[in-house]
Amino acid sequence: MLDNCIFCKIVAGQIPSKLIHDDDDLIAFHDINPAAPVHVLIVPKQHIATLSDCTENHVALLGKMMLLAPKLAQQLGCGYEVDETGKAGGGFKTLFNTGPDGGQEVYHLHLHVIGGPKPWRGQR
Ligand code: AMP
Ligand code: ZN
Repeated sequence: MLDNCIFCKIVAGQIPSKLIHDDDDLIAFHDINPAAPVHVLIVPKQHIATLSDCTENHVALLGKMMLLAPKLAQQLGCGYEVDETGKAGGGFKTLFNTGPDGGQEVYHLHLHVIGGPKPWRGQR
C-alpha cells in the first residue's frame, strides 16, 4: 500500500466507496464523477502505478480485470447482448488511461467500464 494513494486507501477501507465487487485480487466501485449512466472502476488491490508498469508477472491480474468488465456490465444493465433475431444491443467501453497525455489522474492502475446509451459520446 502506498501512503498517499487514494485507491490504496479505498482498497484498505480508509476512504468510502460504492463498492460493487471484492475478491482476493480486485475491487470495483462506482466512479465518483461518472461520465455515463454506468461508470465503474476495476482496481487491483496491489499498488501498480500504470499499465506501463505492468510486466509478465501481471498477465493473470490483467486478464482477471478484463474478464470482470463484461460481468459487471451485465450486472449493471449495460451488458452486450445479441437477441434471437441476431440484433445486437447494449454494450460498454473499457479504458485504461496511462500517463499525462493519456489523461491519467490517479496513479494506481484501474480499468474504466463505461456503459449506457452511447457512452462514447461522453467526455472520455
Ligand atoms: P483516470 O483519469 O483514468 O486516472 O481516472 C481516475 C478516475 O477516478 C476519475 O474518473 C475520477 O472520477 C475517479 N475517482 C477519483 N477519486 C475517486 C473516489 N474517491 N471514488 C471514486 N472514484 C474516484
Ligand atoms: Zn495505490
